[in-house]
Amino acid sequence: MSREMNGWLACPECDVLHQISALTAGTEACCCRCGAVLASCRPGHLERALALTMAAAMLFAVVNSHPLLGLDLGGRETSMTLLAGALELGQHGMWDVVILVFLTSFLFPLLHFLALLYVLIPLALDRCPPGAALWFRAAELFSPWGMIGVYALGVLVAVVKLSDLATVVPGVAVYALGGLLFCSTAAGHALDSADVWHRIEQVIERKKGSGGLPPGC
Ligand SMILES: [Zn+2]
Repeated sequence: MSREMNGWLACPECDVLHQISALTAGTEACCCRCGAVLASCRPGHLERALALTMAAAMLFAVVNSHPLLGLDLGGRETSMTLLAGALELGQHGMWDVVILVFLTSFLFPLLHFLALLYVLIPLALDRCPPGAALWFRAAELFSPWGMIGVYALGVLVAVVKLSDLATVVPGVAVYALGGLLFCSTAAGHALDSADVWHRIEQVIERKKGSGGLPPGC
């Protein structure tokens, strides 16, 4: 949530209060004590973050619907999707690992993308969806719990280890996984959260002023 109060902005890292004047395009304000970025002015960041998040969401769908790796062992070929591979571990009694993989590689990233798109698409059109503050807070909450990068590292280790035992054929999902990592990292870098909170507050204030505030916003 924005930490701006009556023109004063508290540093998110050390809580020192600052009074910030209007920023020009391409500049940012930093904390005088710890150097943390307090606010920045990056024109077009919302549109860039939205485009990258949409690309990441599409690649996420590909990753979860196509085979990740194919194995050719003495003429026997098998291939599995990400979730099917995790469920396979359940047959060996490792249900705690299954739940962990399901939450961090599927559910949390899915909720993160959905919540982010739910907020960013209407904001890019200068609208405020119902419950925007709640959904954006949820997107920020789920973000660090999505560990697709860790899963990608596990896939790389598996490819190297299995290459001695069988012929490993990378599936479509492996390439999509690389694209997903790039797009989601770039989207996180492009998005200016403080400005998104500011826009949400602006739209809410405007709706309140015109008496047309949507429910839950
Ligand atoms: Zn600070």
